[in-house]
Amino acid sequence: MADNTVMERLVSLCKRRGYIFAGSEIYGGLKGTWDYGPLGVELLRNIKNAWWHDNVTTREDIVGLDSSILMARTVWQASGHESNFTDPLIDCKCCKERFRADQIMESQCPRKPSKHPGEHHECQLTEARKFNLMFKTFVGPVEEDAQMVYLRPETAQGIFVNFKNVCDSTRIKIPFGIAQIGKSFRNEITPKQFIFRSREFEQMEIEFFCKPETSQEWYARWRDARFKWYQDLGLKGSNLRLREHGKEELSFYSCGTSDVEYMFPWGWGELEGIAHRGDYDLKQHQQFSGKDLTYFDDETKERFLPHVIEPSAGATRSVLAFLCEAFAEDQAPNEKGVMETRTVLRLHPRLAPVKAAIFPLVKKEGMPERSMAIYKDLQKHFPVFYDEKGAVGRRYRRQDEAGTPFCLTIDGQTATDQTVTIRDRDSMKQERVTTDKVLGYLLERLKS
Ligand code: ATP
Repeated sequence: MADNTVMERLVSLCKRRGYIFAGSEIYGGLKGTWDYGPLGVELLRNIKNAWWHDNVTTREDIVGLDSSILMARTVWQASGHESNFTDPLIDCKCCKERFRADQIMESQCPRKPSKHPGEHHECQLTEARKFNLMFKTFVGPVEEDAQMVYLRPETAQGIFVNFKNVCDSTRIKIPFGIAQIGKSFRNEITPKQFIFRSREFEQMEIEFFCKPETSQEWYARWRDARFKWYQDLGLKGSNLRLREHGKEELSFYSCGTSDVEYMFPWGWGELEGIAHRGDYDLKQHQQFSGKDLTYFDDETKERFLPHVIEPSAGATRSVLAFLCEAFAEDQAPNEKGVMETRTVLRLHPRLAPVKAAIFPLVKKEGMPERSMAIYKDLQKHFPVFYDEKGAVGRRYRRQDEAGTPFCLTIDGQTATDQTVTIRDRDSMKQERVTTDKVLGYLLERLKS
C-alpha cells in the first residue's frame, strides 16, 4: 500500500478499536507519548512474550534481567552517553520551532504554505549544536546537580552493570546472554510517525557474551536469527530487509552492525540493530567502577573480557510494523450479498490480541447460554470475546478490524448436532466443528 493516507487510516483504526491513544489526550496531549488501549496492550504484550519465549524460555544459554530505570550518573559517563548521546539541534529564532539538523529535508516549517525549515524568508535558523537526548531528574528531595540522574535511554547498560552479579549468582558459562525488556526514554527533538519515534518506548535487548575468537560467528548467527524472527511472525517478502552498516556508519568500537529494517508507509525504518560491540562496554565499566569485570574460564584457566553481540529491538516500534503489515482493505459481501470494502488486521495468530470471538446467532432459543458456556471454557486458555449485539455480519466486521483470527457462531443447528461454525478472518471461509473439538481446532491454528 503506497498511498499517503494509509497511516491516517491506521491511526484512526487504532483509536477507534482501542489499540493506541495519544498520551494525556484529554489535556491536549503530550507530544511523543502514547497510551496502549485494551487491544494495544495485548498486542504489545504478545510481542514481548513471543520475544521472551523464543529468546529466553526456550534457550539454555540466555537468562533474564529486570534492572532499574534510574541508574547512577556514572553509568552514563562510562557508557559514553553523557558526552555523546546527542542529535544536532537547530532553532528557528523566528517561529521558535526546533529541528534536527540532519532531518531538515524531512521537516516542515510551521508557516504556510508548507516548506522546509529555512525556506521562508522570515526563517532564522541557528547553527547546529549538540543536544543530549537523555531526560534528567533528581533523586531525593533536593534538586541540585549532585542529585541529578538520567532516565535510561536504553536497557543495555543495566545488563552490563549486572554482568558480574549474573556470573556470580548463576552457573551459566560463556557463551551466554542476558536479556531484558523494559521502558527507555529519549527526549527526541522531533518525535514523529505515530509510535515509530516516541519519547517513552519499550525495548527488548540481549547482550550475548562470548570469547573474542568466536565473536564473528555469533554475530552472524544472531543477525540471521533475529531477521528470521520477524519473518516467522508475519513480516514477509520485500517489506523486510537486513542492512549491513557501511564502515562510515560504525561506531569506533564496533566490528559490525546490521539493521533489520521494515518498509513503513513512508519508507524504510529500523526495527532492530544487531551490533558486534567488542569488549567496549565491559572495559568502560571496569575502568569507571574500578571493579574487575573479567571472566574466568574454568576449562582453559584463562581470564579475559568477553566480546559482546547486542541484538537491540524496539517493542513499541515492532507494534507499528506488525500493524502496518496486518492492515488491509479487501472486498467482502455485506448482509445483502453486495460486495463492500472490508478493513481487516491480518495479525499473526500468536500476536492477535483476542484469539476468538463467540456469537449466538440470535438472543433466544438457548443460543446465548450455549455460547456463554463455550466462551467460559475457552477463556481459561486464551483471550476471547463474547458479543450478542447486532447483525452477525457486523459483528464479523468488528472482529476483522480488531484482528481476531476466528469467530464462532452458535446457531439453531448447535442444539441438534452440537456443532458450531468457525469463520476464518483471512479467507472468510466457515467450517462446522463439534463443540468438543473447538478448543483443539483453535489451539492447533493459534500456534502456527
Ligand atoms: P534511530 O536511528 O531510529 O533513532 P537508534 O539507532 O538510535 O534508532 P538504537 O539506539 O539502536 O536505535 O535502539 C534500538 C531500538 O530501539 C531501535 O531499533 C528501535 O526499534 C528502538 N527505538 C530507538 N529509539 C526509539 C524511539 N525514539 N521510539 C521508539 N523506538 C525506538
